[in-house]
Amino acid sequence: MSEFTPEICRYCGCTQDTPCKVYSGGENNTCGWLHGTNHTCCNAPVCESRFYADKRRAESEAKARNRKRTPAEIEELIQEERRQSRRESRLRCKARKMRQAEAARKASAA
Ligand SMILES: [Zn+2]
Ligand SMILES: [Zn+2]
Repeated sequence: MSEFTPEICRYCGCTQDTPCKVYSGGENNTCGWLHGTNHTCCNAPVCESRFYADKRRAESEAKARNRKRTPAEIEELIQEERRQSRRESRLRCKARKMRQAEAARKASAA
């Protein structure tokens, strides 16, 4: 499954009917599809280099995700989760107080 539309370059948006110009060896050529992209990226130099840069980034992100975490890192994640939920419950508490204050003001105004 590709998240990109086939037959349209994901970067420059060119299509088979509106290819971009590629200058190679002094010749005026139009772009083609970059191999291995299922026609979602053309081989214009700028698109090609972006494609490989994105590919490298995606690969290193996948590697970072699949890497086994050390116990210290897991502990850190748990701590962060706790901090987050404390923050959220504080916010909820604040919102409730504000609602109560609002209700009290309305009651006294009426
Ligand atoms: Zn392109
Ligand atoms: Zn192109």
